[in-house]
Amino acid sequence: MYRVASAKTIAVFTLIGTLLFSMTVGTVIVAFNNGVDSGGIQGWTPLASLTEGTAALWAVLTFAPKVTLVAAAVITVMVLVSFLADHIGGTVKDPQRMYTKDQRRQGADRAEGRCEMESVWWLRCPRPGEHGDHFYPHSLGGATSMANFVWACAKCNIAKSNHVPTIWQKIRLERRRRRYFPEDVPTDVGEKYGAV
Ligand SMILES: [Zn+2]
Repeated sequence: MYRVASAKTIAVFTLIGTLLFSMTVGTVIVAFNNGVDSGGIQGWTPLASLTEGTAALWAVLTFAPKVTLVAAAVITVMVLVSFLADHIGGTVKDPQRMYTKDQRRQGADRAEGRCEMESVWWLRCPRPGEHGDHFYPHSLGGATSMANFVWACAKCNIAKSNHVPTIWQKIRLERRRRRYFPEDVPTDVGEKYGAV
């Protein structure tokens, strides 16, 4: 139901990871070639470390094309699985598309009126909520139930669109909810229509 990470996150992490790995390897190479003294590594610049590191990485990858292929295949499969996870098995939509007035009132009350989504640094959005939002998107089979209800401001509602939240977003929201939800209301979020 939930992905560990979105395809975009996997792609960005792969890119940043490769970059950092190249620079680390490059730093070692620059240090090895030019020496180290009390002033630091001789001739080290971010660009020099990146150039040396990328060249070394490229040399290894072209020397071992099978490793390159396997690595590329693993990343591709991860991205594909991330995309397809929500669409395999077909989607049965909840015939009730919109939350009722009563559900919205109930959801707003338990959120103390404030938007429950995340703004910067994983902090709770400071704006007042305006919409009853499906945590797990209705278009992808999310239930129009209180278990799938998130009280959201217009901005967060639009930003979220029909994105599937990651498992980490779910865990963080549930943790935040413990601070403001009434004690007798479960903090679990996300429900698929027809799920047991
Ligand atoms: Zn918000």
